[in-house]
Amino acid sequence: MEVKTSLLDNMIGVGDMVLIEPLSEDTFIENLKKRFDHSEIYTYIGSVVISMNPYKSLPIYTAEKVEEYRNRNFYELSPHIYALADEAYRSLRDQDKDQCILITGESGAGKTEASKFVMSYVAAVCGKGQEVNKVKEQLLQSNPVLEAFGNAKTVRNDNSSRFGKYMDIEFDFKGDPLGGVISNYLLEKSRVVKQPRGERNFHIFYQLLSGASDDTLKKLKLDRDFSKYNYLSLDSATVNGLDDAASFRTVRNAMQIVGFMEDEVQSILELVAAVLKLGNIEFKPESRCNGFDESRIKDKNEMCELLGIEQSVLERAFSFRTVEAKMEKVSTSLNVAQAYYARDALAKNLYSRLFSWLVTRINESIKAQTKTHKKVMGVLDIYGFEIFEDNSFEQFIINYCNEKLQQIFIELTLREEQEEYIREFLNENKNGILAMLDEECLRPGTVTDETFLDKLNTVCAEHQHFESRQSKNSKFLTDHSLPHNCFRIQHYAGKVLYRVEGFVDKNNDLLYRDLSQAMYKANHSLIKILFPEGNPAKVNLKRPPTAGFQFRASVGTLMKNLLTKNPNYIRCIKPNDEKAAHIFTDSLVCHQARYLGLMENVRVRRAGYAFRQPYEPCLERYKMLCKQTWPHWKGPLFFLEEKRRQCLGDLATLIQKIYRGWKCRTHFLLLKKSQVVVA
Ligand code: ADP
Ligand code: MG
Repeated sequence: MEVKTSLLDNMIGVGDMVLIEPLSEDTFIENLKKRFDHSEIYTYIGSVVISMNPYKSLPIYTAEKVEEYRNRNFYELSPHIYALADEAYRSLRDQDKDQCILITGESGAGKTEASKFVMSYVAAVCGKGQEVNKVKEQLLQSNPVLEAFGNAKTVRNDNSSRFGKYMDIEFDFKGDPLGGVISNYLLEKSRVVKQPRGERNFHIFYQLLSGASDDTLKKLKLDRDFSKYNYLSLDSATVNGLDDAASFRTVRNAMQIVGFMEDEVQSILELVAAVLKLGNIEFKPESRCNGFDESRIKDKNEMCELLGIEQSVLERAFSFRTVEAKMEKVSTSLNVAQAYYARDALAKNLYSRLFSWLVTRINESIKAQTKTHKKVMGVLDIYGFEIFEDNSFEQFIINYCNEKLQQIFIELTLREEQEEYIREFLNENKNGILAMLDEECLRPGTVTDETFLDKLNTVCAEHQHFESRQSKNSKFLTDHSLPHNCFRIQHYAGKVLYRVEGFVDKNNDLLYRDLSQAMYKANHSLIKILFPEGNPAKVNLKRPPTAGFQFRASVGTLMKNLLTKNPNYIRCIKPNDEKAAHIFTDSLVCHQARYLGLMENVRVRRAGYAFRQPYEPCLERYKMLCKQTWPHWKGPLFFLEEKRRQCLGDLATLIQKIYRGWKCRTHFLLLKKSQVVVA
């Protein structure tokens, strides 16, 4: 029996990287590969789950599998994401420890799928009954809605999340679900008006045009033909394996389950249609006597009818920009190029505000109906590290967020402080890049991307993570290959070259007040909600916070929140760049394993303690097992340190025996600094 098991292990590799002998990068990768070839996509590093994207559907997420993993010890069965979900759920339910599931990995590595497997597992094992089932259904069905509006086909992933998502699922003391709260992070709104080659706009546009009934389309004044709309890219309008029409039905159904009213759905679709129509507005110049050109809308546009706005109101908002200075209003006219810019800004704002509103609306539906003590499980599925050919503000923000997550991982898992952490440099101190960008954006006078770069060059010149052509950093002085308008940052996952163009503008994220005022005049309740600052009664509103500032603040809150919870890690890895099953590109996997710090992770696990718990909860949980602690345990306060240790030691020995009886190869319970640890 023994022999057979080890043979099998040899064939499919070992389930826990901690057991690899000898440990090297080669054996690590080889083990992943062996397992991948046998469709064993999950591998542990202690309690961390590595998940390889199989790019094919595997029969390992069935109801039978759920039953198999339910209430079983983490290491009892072969590695599975369900084991992690089960462990997290049981710790939450039985030990009252809030949990978070941190899912990381690059785009296309399988994060979103993983988050859904975790959610569906937890939904399957927690509580029963009509009320509870309704809550579960609503929580699960929020996914298709958010994916339709927030996901798109990219070069890397046909269903790429273009927003970050964190969801707290709340439970009562029995472990039955009560509800949830979703937070969304920075939707990539530039996609609304322009998509990189080979990519699409957000799914909902294609779903609506393909899947809505003729009647609905007529009401929305839409044409089924994608090619009629400027904002929809043509080169990849239909995607293999994506059935937009079927997805539309799924989304409609999901909206209903989540609790959207029919008229709300109608309003939402009107706004989706309005964005498409907005993209078709064209401008022509009209010469003025002062020699300047002013823009005019070329043709009648149906968007106005859809939203109940007078075309003249919209036209005026696209032709002039009013600036209030020193109690005086000054109108400057916009030329055609500026009018197009304003149009796109409006489309991006409209869509991203609609998206945020959807999240708020979903939260209203799924929020827990009680105020009693809640146990919480947070699931984080946030955009992975991105290195493109052309990297802009969006990538900077995304990578900044990944830096922070990586830092948490290092602190909590590897227990190492990095000497000079790059996070400081990106943000935290006043010379952080985001802080400097804000400073620049708020500075009076002419601010451009170039002045921002100049500032970076002066302030960051000495920084070891920073390079640019003009930088005085001696280490990189020789690198004249860098373009003038770029700077490069050494992230934990690699060097990224950022093009500075658009940083100031995207960070400012300003919408001309004329436009928000025009939107507020619409005879459409949802549009009015989305542009509250357009309300003329609300003059003198302060300048809204910059995009970078908002993001920093929300990521800061997120990190604080995560640190109060017990973390569970899923590290997703992409096996190849072709989105293909069966291909394992060693170099690609190796790169990811390196920057995710997986090897160090294994080393730390091998050297140290795999599991830690403070005395008290451990005793609470196990005290009845041992006669020294049960029934006469009087609580920790009654014992001197020496006595405490002795009792815990007895308990430890006993538990270890039990574990041995289960043939677990754990050395249980060593004592170290008031913690109980398993090595
Ligand atoms: P990410 O969120 O990391 O960008 P996704 O979770 O969207 O990546 O995964 C990308 C694609 O890979 C999915 O659309 C799916 O086709 C495939 N995929 C990912 N994980 C799995 C899995 N466990 N089983 C089958 N296919 C998967
Ligand atoms: Mg995703």
